[in-house]
Order: sequence, then structure tokens, then C-alpha cells
Amino acid sequence: MNVECITLQAFQVNAYLLQDPASGVGVVVDTGFDDELAAILGAQQPRLDIQAILLTHAHFDHAGGLAALQQRFPQAVTYLPTLEKPLFDTLPWQGELVFGAPQFNRPCGRIDREVQDGAELEVGSGLRFRFLSTPGHTPGQGCYYTDTHIFVGDTLFAGSIGRTDFPMSDSQSMESSLRRLLQLPGHLIVCSGHGPETTLERELQTNPFLDYIRRERGIALNSRRPFGRQPRWN
Ligand SMILES: [Zn+2]
Repeated sequence: MNVECITLQAFQVNAYLLQDPASGVGVVVDTGFDDELAAILGAQQPRLDIQAILLTHAHFDHAGGLAALQQRFPQAVTYLPTLEKPLFDTLPWQGELVFGAPQFNRPCGRIDREVQDGAELEVGSGLRFRFLSTPGHTPGQGCYYTDTHIFVGDTLFAGSIGRTDFPMSDSQSMESSLRRLLQLPGHLIVCSGHGPETTLERELQTNPFLDYIRRERGIALNSRRPFGRQPRWN
């Protein structure tokens, strides 16, 4: 599977284009905020064969571009975590709800399939994903993973974690979600919703927000959470 990270201008969100080199079938993870990703992918020649759109969560910087992307690639099947549906339903007015900015409000687009913890997805014949539900940053955020990569949205970042001070966030759920996430194989390359890629192992060893997991597992504390430091990203 080829993995291309496309960092969009709006909110510096990372969207991902995944392609099966044998068949050319493509999958997009997250859509960005507006029609920027649709324009970038729509301009590629030869024309991309996007068969699925996987949403990690329904914050508008990640899902606000869904309608535009679906217009470009109407055959693509869109997946959303089941528990994220209530937040997705706020998408038309989320700009106002979360940031007090009504000009950010967007139409939703269409959800074709909902995914639940443990689900396995197959797109074309060469792209397979498992789904891990990791609520906390949002009510139903989740991670899609293969044998080599995991797409975590705003659950985990290189050296940070997703914020839990938004409406519908829950810091206790976030703690248990990170605990579950960090039980997956350490070699998995973490493709986050913002910032550079990392690996689960590297974050387990060094992420300053994961001291509690290291303590539980008896891993030597080799980082310290700086006093007053807060997660950085949306
Ligand atoms: Zn988010």
C-alpha cells in the first residue's frame, strides 16, 4: 500500500491518500475542512479510483470537506465510526458550536456505512483495514489500521495527544482509549491528523502524556510532562 500524507492549508490537517499499487484502487482518510482536498485529488492524472473515504472523526477540520470530495468521487463509499454519528450530525453548525464562527459551517455529505470496534473493512481486493474505537477527543473517534500503518486522527500525535476540552470530549475515555491503542504492535507507523508521523513504540517510550501507561506497564519514565503543558492540536 502506498501512503501519501497531504497536509492541507486549513488547520494544517493531514489527509491521507492510500493506494493499492497492483489495482490502483484508492482510499482517502479524512477530508480536511473544505474543498481543498477534492481539488488536489480531482486534478490528478490519470484519474484516481477512490473507492472509500474513511473518517476518523467528525470535527469539521477533518470531515468538513466530505460533501466536496463526494461530489468529485461519487462512487466512493464513506465510513464513519458509529459512536461518532451524534457529532457528525452537528457538522452543519459545528463552526458556530465549537469556535463561534458561523462562516465555518458546512453541509455534511453522506455517510454510507458505520463502523464499530473490531470491524474489518476491505476496499477493492488489496486494501484491508481493522478499526479500533478510541473515543475521548470526540464521542466516537477511531483508528483504522493495516499491518504497517495506523491512521489515528486526533487521538495521538508525535509527542502529544488530542485535546479533550471540546464539547462532547471526555478525558477519562481518552485515557482508556490511549491505553488500548498502545497495546497494538509498536512497529505501526502512526499517521496523525496533524503533525509528523511517528510509531506507537516511540510514543509509548517518549510521549509526555503517556506517563500513566508507562507507570502501569513498569516502563522506565524517560520523559516528564512539563508543568502546565497542554495538548496542542484540534
Ligand atoms: Zn479533532
